[in-house]
Amino acid sequence: MKAVAVFPSQREVRVVDEPEPRITAATEARLRVLDVGVCGTDREICAFEYGTPPSGRGHLVIGHESLSRVEEVGPAVTRVRPGDLVVTMVRRPCPHAHCGACPQDRQDFCFTGDFEERGIKGRHGFMTEQIVEDEKYLVPVPQALREVGVLVEPLTIAEKALIQLWDVQERLPWLCPHRPGKNHGHCRRALVLGAGPVGLLGAMALRARDFETIVYAREKVPNVKAAVTAQIGATYVSSEDVPPDQLEERFGAIDVVYEAAGASKLAFDVMGEMGANSVFIFTGVPGRKAAVPVDTDLLMRNLVLKNQIVYGTVNAGRDAFEAAVADVGEFLKRWPEALLSLISGRHPVDEARELLLGRPGGIKHVLAFAQ
Ligand code: BGC
Repeated sequence: MKAVAVFPSQREVRVVDEPEPRITAATEARLRVLDVGVCGTDREICAFEYGTPPSGRGHLVIGHESLSRVEEVGPAVTRVRPGDLVVTMVRRPCPHAHCGACPQDRQDFCFTGDFEERGIKGRHGFMTEQIVEDEKYLVPVPQALREVGVLVEPLTIAEKALIQLWDVQERLPWLCPHRPGKNHGHCRRALVLGAGPVGLLGAMALRARDFETIVYAREKVPNVKAAVTAQIGATYVSSEDVPPDQLEERFGAIDVVYEAAGASKLAFDVMGEMGANSVFIFTGVPGRKAAVPVDTDLLMRNLVLKNQIVYGTVNAGRDAFEAAVADVGEFLKRWPEALLSLISGRHPVDEARELLLGRPGGIKHVLAFAQ
């Protein structure tokens, strides 16, 4: 069966023929892969900046954003049945009993760094026709989400970030009293940095919780990302039109920054403009470029004098995957056009190299392995 693989030592990316996987444990299921999203991490792996093949192998089958259909289940599987749609979680626990997270099934918070990630680190991924996986890592998806289920994994980043945000902001329990018909975020203002898939899905998650939401990205209007932003009731602002130090004057104090651009200079410029009691959430992984000067005194003064919090978040646990499945369903009801337009193209596997190595434009490109 076909699979998309990188060969780091040969510096090659190609479509290869892999053996079909078989169920070998009672709790495993065999899945027919339907859709696989192409993301920035995949492109970095294909540029040999990131990614590790399974031990003893010269290649890594990439892909970690997937939607599959269950074809066959082992005798002890209870969570899914043949015909079900599923999204497969990405990270697998490290082997250390002393890790404070992995033995609790919270490998997304792994302490040791010895975790594996399918399609990224130490394990083959999902850009292939079939996979076998333990049911523990499968998250059921309603059939109604067939066209958009591939967006679940990139949305889990925002879901994990928001789960933590509520924990952090419980320090302000008097703020935003309950308002009938309104969600948690109704009295808060969020700024999303970046208008790629992670940024726009994050903006949708924030809007669904009633945050006033501003998407801040480089590209000037009009553009397709600004159109999606308007459709979900958020405001799109180009950093070319409004520099970071004018954001507060234009929009008022920012309570939450959700960084999804991976550009550290812009991020730290915006950090210096955050309001009192605000939270800055990093999700991007910048490449290693030349050092960028930062006004550390200003940032430190603000962090202290304005009670600010900064945190980074990576990967996602089952709670965030389940929240993402529910939210993709909600987004499809509320903003069908905007959600569907995040998927800029569905392509056959033979176009994988162009998508991974070229600059395809648009928002999210998907490899369609089966109907
Ligand atoms: C994936 C995460 C993964 C991270 C770091 C992201 O693209 O969505 O699951 O943990 O890359 O490898």
